[in-house]
Amino acid sequence: MVDFLGLVEEAVKFHGHICPGLLIGVKMGVAALNLLGVSRASDEELYAVVENDNCSVDGLQVVAGVTFGKGNLSFRDYGKMAATFYLRSRKIALRLVFKPESFEKIENMDLREAMREQNPELKMAKFAKIAERFGDLPDDEVFNISIVDMAEPQMAEIRKSVKCESCGEMTMETKTVVKNGKLLCIPCSSGVNYYRVK
Ligand SMILES: [Zn+2]
Ligand SMILES: [Zn+2]
Repeated sequence: MVDFLGLVEEAVKFHGHICPGLLIGVKMGVAALNLLGVSRASDEELYAVVENDNCSVDGLQVVAGVTFGKGNLSFRDYGKMAATFYLRSRKIALRLVFKPESFEKIENMDLREAMREQNPELKMAKFAKIAERFGDLPDDEVFNISIVDMAEPQMAEIRKSVKCESCGEMTMETKTVVKNGKLLCIPCSSGVNYYRVK
């Protein structure tokens, strides 16, 4: 039996607060591991593609061990509460999509009241009650689950870094561009960056 609440608490430590999205991510991670018959990934044996970048992804990272830093998580900006899990040992991919009626199910567990609670301890206690009920719902009641075809994801690689000839910052070689005979990083080659040097 999975200690759903224990996993939620672990996820809260990582995420910073309790929220419905986090519960959904934890549930999704638990369901994926159960259905694939594996435990939390310590390496890249399991890979996930998530289709949103909301709170749920943090729950999923904690529970399933598919993490951005480890390179076994990728993000497609589709705005869907959905994820596909690829298990390398069996070359199978499982897609989970949060059912439209599932949010209603959480709402019916006094979600609004829990969300309105300002006291952090009381809020956690209210969410804990929801988590226990939500965690008990059968996976196929919460998600549409299907086996899909997916190309095997590449393994994360450690690549050599080289110095950008404009800003001088070390840059992964595969991310450099040659422009006017100079080896440049992406922002230097395009002239577009998200910050300006003061
Ligand atoms: Zn959140
Ligand atoms: Zn540069």
